[in-house]
Amino acid sequence: MNAGKQCLKCGYTRTDQDPSPFYPCPSCGAVYEKVEAARRAKNQKPTKKNILAKVGQVAAAIKIAPELGQQEVRKSLSTLVRTYHGKQSDAVTAFSKETAKLKSEGFYPTQQLWEDGRWSGWAFLVALLLCFVVIGFPIILYMIIVKPDGVLTVTYERESP
Ligand SMILES: [Zn+2]
Repeated sequence: MNAGKQCLKCGYTRTDQDPSPFYPCPSCGAVYEKVEAARRAKNQKPTKKNILAKVGQVAAAIKIAPELGQQEVRKSLSTLVRTYHGKQSDAVTAFSKETAKLKSEGFYPTQQLWEDGRWSGWAFLVALLLCFVVIGFPIILYMIIVKPDGVLTVTYERESP
């Protein structure tokens, strides 16, 4: 009985010549059933590989639904600061669009700050220097006529439920 069975503990393979009883390994005395049960339990424990797979699944889920992921993050916040870049009208459009969405999560805008886009002093200086090489003249003209994107900063506060 049990001939050809290999012990998971010591690796001994049982032969016909091995004496009874049949349930323990004749070499190390381990009970086959127990060793096998222990081995099964060990395989079910979260291994590093299993954890990594789980993390991968979560990451994939966030990739599929980044909106949901951000929503989860916002649940832990009471204050939210968002910035909207672009021309003022575009920024306001983006802002009102998001406000509607954030309201459903309980966030209300409490503070707004619009900052006009401004070329840095350095950009002007460089253009001014380039003026002497003629090339800069149209650049200066462009910089005077066209303004860079501004920033609308909005602070939201979440009403406590
Ligand atoms: Zn054994």
